[in-house]
Amino acid sequence: MDQIHVTLPDGSVKDVPKGTTPVEIAKSISPRLADAALVARVTVPNDGQGELIDVRRPLDRDVKLQILTDRDPDALYVFRHSAAHLLAAAVMELYPNVKLGIGPPVDNGFFYEFLREEPFTTADLEKIEKKMHELAAQDIPNERKLMPKPEALELYKRTNQTFKCELVDEKAVEPMVSFYTTGKFIDFCRGPHIPSTKRIQAFKLMSVAGAYWKGQEGNPQLQRIYAAAFFSQKELDEYLHRLEEAKRRDHRKLGQELDLFSIEEEAGPGLIFWHPKGGLIRNLIETWLKDELLKRGYDLVYTPHIMRLDLWKTSGHTGYYKDSMFGPVEVEKADYQLKPMNCPGHILIYKSRLRSYRDLPVRFGELGTVYRYERSGVLHGLLRVRGFTQDDAHIFCTPSQIESEVEACMDFAFAVMKTFGFDKFEVELSDWDPAHPENYPGKPEDWQHASDSLASTLARMNIPYKRIAGEGAFYGPKIDVKLIDAIGRPWQLTTVQFDFNLPARFSLEYVGEDGARHQPLMVHRALLGSVERFFGILIEHYAGAFPLWLAPVQVQVCPVSEKVADYAKHIAETLKNHHLRVHLDDRNEKLPAKIRDAQLQKIPYMLVVGPKEAEAGTASVRHRSKGDLGPKPLAEVVAALQEESQSRTIS
Ligand SMILES: [Zn+2]
Ligand SMILES: [Zn+2]
Repeated sequence: MDQIHVTLPDGSVKDVPKGTTPVEIAKSISPRLADAALVARVTVPNDGQGELIDVRRPLDRDVKLQILTDRDPDALYVFRHSAAHLLAAAVMELYPNVKLGIGPPVDNGFFYEFLREEPFTTADLEKIEKKMHELAAQDIPNERKLMPKPEALELYKRTNQTFKCELVDEKAVEPMVSFYTTGKFIDFCRGPHIPSTKRIQAFKLMSVAGAYWKGQEGNPQLQRIYAAAFFSQKELDEYLHRLEEAKRRDHRKLGQELDLFSIEEEAGPGLIFWHPKGGLIRNLIETWLKDELLKRGYDLVYTPHIMRLDLWKTSGHTGYYKDSMFGPVEVEKADYQLKPMNCPGHILIYKSRLRSYRDLPVRFGELGTVYRYERSGVLHGLLRVRGFTQDDAHIFCTPSQIESEVEACMDFAFAVMKTFGFDKFEVELSDWDPAHPENYPGKPEDWQHASDSLASTLARMNIPYKRIAGEGAFYGPKIDVKLIDAIGRPWQLTTVQFDFNLPARFSLEYVGEDGARHQPLMVHRALLGSVERFFGILIEHYAGAFPLWLAPVQVQVCPVSEKVADYAKHIAETLKNHHLRVHLDDRNEKLPAKIRDAQLQKIPYMLVVGPKEAEAGTASVRHRSKGDLGPKPLAEVVAALQEESQSRTIS
């Protein structure tokens, strides 16, 4: 009899007859494991990653075997794929005439696409979801079947599944084509799948979206039903809650409610109008930033918004960056280009005179407004726009200065995060692919030196990071910092990038200690990225409830009646004289209405004043989230607010 050796993760080896299945082996270990087994990973000795297979697939050779349960992320992927099949099975029962597209797992769930004349409505989705639960409860096995290719094509022709026919025709290379059945439903599929439908309980059909077949315009448009799916109801609920939270924090909605900014159709898409309250916050951000730039040895520069097109030819942007630029403008028979980047402007200032090694490093900082073409379909509030202001800087330095400059950039980035209230982040170092030096401009030794400097700087600063080879920009290695917001979403923010390309294209030089001319190293760096985008992130991070130092209105004074109008005015004046941003709500409204409106505007503090307070020279302090803090002497209130605002306390 044919025996095979199956090595388990703990190193033990089982001798079993050829054809034994993973689930049988699981059962021999414990019935509970067999019950929990969703999929198996088999690795043929000396063959890398291994392959995921059905737990009922017979083993035919010596393998390493791992049984995956709902504790394994790879099993979740398979689970979602099986859930996609369940969706298609339900749809086919309810609407037998639809044509099937593809149905893969995706982040947080899965989709399946269908061709159907009528659009799927919310009522349809409810019906489908119900049918899916019904089928799931029947514990229908997912079974793998093999079919000769001509037979497979015939099957799909007979059932009028043209897209599937196309897929079998293109993708099935082996003589035998693999299919999976779930009851009556059959699908051309490589698998693997979880054993049956019964585990698929925690899912929710979320939306329907149009998608061209194979993503190609001109092809028929299918309807994609998107769903969220998790192993447990708890995880699904948490996910739905996160979505709700994200919706509640949507900066476009809050931007309107708090009157921070707008996009005016009359002016064009992707262009931001900063309203007084948004403008005030922007001014606070920019003032802080400029002070820091000067403290940290940067020079502030300003460069034109429009420059000769030829300049952008020299920089190379008209080549590789053309699609992201607005078209040129003709002036006196010469073409001019609206700037998509600030780098060439800073380079021209650098080049305006001969630099010596003693002048380096040169650090030019600019809040530089740039314009980039983005398709209208991808524009999104403050996050994807066509005109924005970068907190841009370029550093020109010698090779021996790299490490201290990179360290200073990272230190600056952390100061930004701390000041604006972000304490979680991820760092990535994107490198070149040293196996293909021919793909990169500049000398390989410079690349190596720059990459090593970035890595050793991060190591010296004790910053954990992920190194990604081959993912650097073509012109140099870079460090990216992603911050994690209040609800756990990552946002790409700071970037520090080397550039071996532009210094060569513009023949940048400095006179070295040896009296000879050398090419300086150039670093592009932006901390906030763009002020618009950063503002969008801030709004969502704080759900519009900015810390005191950033709040457009810091205090609202709420007199309880006309009788204390003078005292209320006195308080407002006093606060104003102490550089606090105050609004006096002297409307003829009841106190609860005044408080409700201040809460809706997310104003940090409310000072309630009535006859008692007027007599005692106090104010009753109320905080937007901490509630009533009781009456306090006015001088004490002023001092506390000033301290909280000036120290930029995050609360
Ligand atoms: Zn499939
Ligand atoms: Zn640049």
